Amino acid sequence: MNCHRVQRSLSAYADDVVSARERVDISGHLAGCRDCAALAQRLQLMRSALRALPVRTPPNHLTTRLTVLASRERIRRLRRGTFAGLVGELVGTARLWLENIMRPLALPFAGGLVSAVVLFAVMTPVFAPPENMRVDDVPTILSTEAAFVSMGPFTLSDEDIVVDLTVNEQGRMVDYSTPKGQRWVKDPEIRKSVENALFFTLFSPATNFGQPLSGKLRLTFRRTQIDVRG
Ligand SMILES: [Zn+2]
Repeated sequence: MNCHRVQRSLSAYADDVVSARERVDISGHLAGCRDCAALAQRLQLMRSALRALPVRTPPNHLTTRLTVLASRERIRRLRRGTFAGLVGELVGTARLWLENIMRPLALPFAGGLVSAVVLFAVMTPVFAPPENMRVDDVPTILSTEAAFVSMGPFTLSDEDIVVDLTVNEQGRMVDYSTPKGQRWVKDPEIRKSVENALFFTLFSPATNFGQPLSGKLRLTFRRTQIDVRG
């Protein structure tokens, strides 16, 4: 083995990733060549100096930010990758927009629904089937929306915090965006707190014929309550 080849392999030799035959050749060469032996020693010194450096742990906030960035990028690629993904994204955004427009109608509708349920409950004994009649019909709900289940630890700010979330099939937040004009976004402390809370918040995923899907919903944190729409 000549000096050039030995010097090129010294790093691999130090890492012990050379073949047994190369190892024998290189150590044989090092025993007889002062230049290469000196270079090997310098390399060894540099390696121990690097190993002795203190190990820095990244701050928690950075880890969270990177996780958010990574999941955003993943979602972006998935969407770019398929036509169905792109359509799904557009449908999700349109649905959220429509539901925010329909907001003033939500309460009267809920009131109507409650009265319908009460009326039905009152009338049910009249419609009850005879005792010996078998009912084979299984009620199914064709599709459900993503919904909020439980909340991670969270400190509230002075203003309302509104976030639009994308929730995956496992009921975890994978991406979020903030509607324009919110001041808290500029405060890294509140941002960190909100992101941490969202990561530990559990949602029930949207379903279609019982199959979980990713879906969107809007969360509003107020000082006194949490408002969920989606
Ligand atoms: Zn040499």
